[in-house]
Amino acid sequence: MNYLKFAGPVIDEAMAEAVKQTLLTHWITSGPRVAEFEQALSEYHGGRPTRVFTSATAAMEVAFQVCGIGPGDEVITSAMTFFSVGNMIEKVGAKTVFVDCDLHTRNIDLDQVERAITPRTKAIVPTHFGGLPCDMDRLMAIAGKHKLRVIEDAALAIGSSWRGQKIGAFGDIATFSFHPNKNMTSIEGGAAMFADPAEAKRSEVLRFHGIAKLPDGTREVDYPGGKFNMSDVSARLGLDQLKKLDGWCALRRDLVAHYFARFEPIAAELGLSLPAKAHAGEPEGHSWNMFSVLLPLASMKISRKQFIDAMHTENIGIGVSYEAMHLSKLFRGKGHREGEFPNAERISRETVALPLHAGLTLADIDRVVDTTVRVLRDNRA
Ligand SMILES: *Cc1c(COP(=O)(O)O)cnc(C)c1O
Repeated sequence: MNYLKFAGPVIDEAMAEAVKQTLLTHWITSGPRVAEFEQALSEYHGGRPTRVFTSATAAMEVAFQVCGIGPGDEVITSAMTFFSVGNMIEKVGAKTVFVDCDLHTRNIDLDQVERAITPRTKAIVPTHFGGLPCDMDRLMAIAGKHKLRVIEDAALAIGSSWRGQKIGAFGDIATFSFHPNKNMTSIEGGAAMFADPAEAKRSEVLRFHGIAKLPDGTREVDYPGGKFNMSDVSARLGLDQLKKLDGWCALRRDLVAHYFARFEPIAAELGLSLPAKAHAGEPEGHSWNMFSVLLPLASMKISRKQFIDAMHTENIGIGVSYEAMHLSKLFRGKGHREGEFPNAERISRETVALPLHAGLTLADIDRVVDTTVRVLRDNRA
């Protein structure tokens, strides 16, 4: 039986041909295709100025620099997100202040955000977990009340919306990822959407050596910028992928509906926790990058690793997202310990992401469900 990877891109012949044509032009690094891709992303998201980068991680580093976040500042984020968030906060010299996530939505707990605010807090960085939007009304109200910047980790939220508006239209800056495991890809790549056009302009300098062009044709540097500019080859692929995004998101919703239809009647008996659904009344608000469940480890006689291995034996790939970030060596070294954020720690121990991408069929989902059920039933403690 064919191998079902847990995530991955769809790249067709037409896309490969378009990339080849770009490679054969005289221009392969940042040029006209990058400008076109930025324009298309901006239009898709309701018109905010948009810039592309080599990754979401690069976009976030630049976003923090644009906001002037650095030494002495505190940035509040969830312990349940990808390492890049804590890494970039620390890399710009600020202090990461973790709060827990909600066990069901896996999104940042906004009650805890309010309690974590100090006079040094500069920004909140919410992650839209798996593509499920955070409560942006409440989050923006908290940020407004305390005059904090909001930099959204929207790495998985391309295609998601909150109350009818695309994610990317809410915070000061939202960063997106085009890594191949996300809902659309540019091989590697990322984007940032800005509320303030001046900040978008500033990000262009920071993503390219900090270089500004002078009227006499020479160059000047006032800040040690990085080198995070996307190539036209990547942008060309991104342009074609963006055209398919809505169709792919609809297909993901159908696959997820099938997961729920199959799992819901037996989840309690299996002891399996299913992910939160899209917000009520907004089924299209969730881009469904991941379908992650929590395993009933206490009533299983195998470990999570053994579950993953058993699924692999059946040619089914399984992901793990994410490890609780405060328990990384980096943050243990700053004093963090087990027990601080019970929800993030539990998810970190029990979560597995089942296959979900636009290359799957309903029959593939049936195979994943049947195999999951069999492995769990065969291995009850
Ligand atoms: C993938 C991911 C990132 C990083 O994206 P890159 O483009 O690989 O840098 C950041 N945050 C979350 C939640 C992610 O899933």
